[in-house]
Amino acid sequence: MTTTEAAVQPYTLFRVEVVRSERISPRMLRVTFGGPDLARCASAGHDQRIKLFFPLDGQTEPIVPAGPGWFGEFRAMPDDLRPPIRTFTISGFRTGQRELDVDFVLHGDLGPASRWAGGAKPGDRIAILAPDARHTPITGYEYKPGADTDWTLLAGDETALPAIAGILSAMPDDRHAMVFLEVSSPREMRPLDCAARVHVTWLSRGGAPAGGGALLDAITRTEFPSGRPYAWVAGESGAVVALRRHLVRERGLDKKDVYFSGYWLLGGAIE
Ligand SMILES: Cc1cc2nc3c(=O)[nH]c(=O)nc-3n(C[C@H](O)[C@H](O)[C@H](O)COP(=O)(O)OP(=O)(O)OC[C@H]3O[C@@H](n4cnc5c(N)ncnc54)[C@H](O)[C@@H]3O)c2cc1C
Repeated sequence: MTTTEAAVQPYTLFRVEVVRSERISPRMLRVTFGGPDLARCASAGHDQRIKLFFPLDGQTEPIVPAGPGWFGEFRAMPDDLRPPIRTFTISGFRTGQRELDVDFVLHGDLGPASRWAGGAKPGDRIAILAPDARHTPITGYEYKPGADTDWTLLAGDETALPAIAGILSAMPDDRHAMVFLEVSSPREMRPLDCAARVHVTWLSRGGAPAGGGALLDAITRTEFPSGRPYAWVAGESGAVVALRRHLVRERGLDKKDVYFSGYWLLGGAIE
């Protein structure tokens, strides 16, 4: 390994701009980012997480320091200059075109990410911390079923839909999966591309607030296939923790066979 290769960090900061956006459902906006830097970006293709830095009010782009020590400098920035960061999933990546898609849940104007996405237009600039293609291996994804897995359980709310869609699209055709997806209304449901044998259950909150117990209720009532499952669960933190508890305590799943992640926190913000 050369010194240059050794110095490559797993994640790099990319400065990008909005190329276009598309409403893929009433509450989900797909924003396509582009920029020459993206030639050096990579995606594992599953639940690939990235960090987005948004401009503050009155700024045309977020102020993010450059260079090797940028993160320390970023942390030391005064509150009135430091851009808010939120975590998202790469929902599409086309190296050749240097384009990267992010699907934003438009949940209102309370948070910087949802507010920014709601008004995003071509040419708007943000910064993205994403995997560097020069680094081996690509990190920042969590869907890793063991070789002895017989079937997969995927469960989440709309924030996990981009990740679950990515996992399904890459799933080999000899796999079997059960999928539970909670969304705000039937109009948020969409076809999922998958070669594997998949049973998908869509759950509509029917206008009720997100972060309730719909996923847990549906999964509790479901008879599981035989064999060893691997579970991937993401969504509102409280809902996800309750679901993981059910899977481990009542269904007897081994803790290491359950990946769970609080993608957002009801009434709070997570960087
Ligand atoms: C690994 C990972 C991957 C993620 N991928 C995606 C993704 O691809 N697409 C996506 O949309 N989100 C994704 N999320 C979730 C996203 O980071 C959070 O929803 C985040 O809180 C949005 O930031 P915000 O600035 O809009 O709101 P915040 O400032 O964080 O929160 C403001 C308020 O909005 C509420 N809130 C936040 N999110 C929601 C929501 N979805 N529904 C209802 N109320 C909400 C909070 O409880 C809080 O009261 C991901 C999170 C993680 C950890």
